[in-house]
Amino acid sequence: MPELPEVETVRKGLEKLLNNFYITKIDVLKERSIASIGGSKTFIQNIENSYLGNWERRGKYLIGSLNTINKNSKGFLVVHLRMTGQFKLINKQTLPCTHTRVRFFEKSGKELRFIDIRNFGQMWYVPYKKSIKDIVSGIKRLGPEPFSQDFNSCYLEKYLKHKKRSIKSALLDQSTVAGIGNIYADETLFDAGINPKTESRNLKKDDLNRLCRSLLKILKISIGEGGTTFSDFRDLEGINGNYGGQAWVYRRGGKRCRKCETKILREKICGRSTHWCPNCQK
Ligand SMILES: [Zn+2]
Repeated sequence: MPELPEVETVRKGLEKLLNNFYITKIDVLKERSIASIGGSKTFIQNIENSYLGNWERRGKYLIGSLNTINKNSKGFLVVHLRMTGQFKLINKQTLPCTHTRVRFFEKSGKELRFIDIRNFGQMWYVPYKKSIKDIVSGIKRLGPEPFSQDFNSCYLEKYLKHKKRSIKSALLDQSTVAGIGNIYADETLFDAGINPKTESRNLKKDDLNRLCRSLLKILKISIGEGGTTFSDFRDLEGINGNYGGQAWVYRRGGKRCRKCETKILREKICGRSTHWCPNCQK
């Protein structure tokens, strides 16, 4: 599943490649992809004849601004890629594959195509006068962005103080911190030397300081690599990221730890495969 670094890579691609993309026509091939009220009908009516402007990211959500021809705001196009959603910019018309869900056409013949094998990806139209949080309830529940000032060890100490759940499970919860999934949770906990099963409330201030530092460090490295090699993630030009080559524990169950040679363990924690080194992570 795309996590913060992958979604950030997609955001950069959308902004770079869709400069002045004027949507003249939209085809929704799968109604389920449209999550906003009024379904595809309202979605198409409001987004056709708009320019795509800036793209922002909040957690794993992409937020595109929609503008009129005079560059006045018309609202937003919000997208969550979920498991397998991906955008492709098509310059020369080709027939859509069976996993194509939504097609945005530009007058010059270019197409922004949304392909989603598992079909869990979602899109919302948010009118200009509405708040994004009111239309996309998942955004309302998001915790702080890892790179924001609100995310620090004091915040975590307060937030996790009474929580019995494991720190792995807390990191996966988008209301603790936005944008983290399985890969970066495992890699961060390794870097910070924290056992993923540790009860969140038992982490000391020192642990939380290391956890924050490690999370930012791992995310920065991965963003620099254009996201991960794992999963089906591709950027708009079909290129896979390169983070996986340097993973310390993720998907390395049974292999030797790159630091201490101990066998990496793999076990499900709250339903998700978790990888850690029992020697480096106490
Ligand atoms: Zn180790």
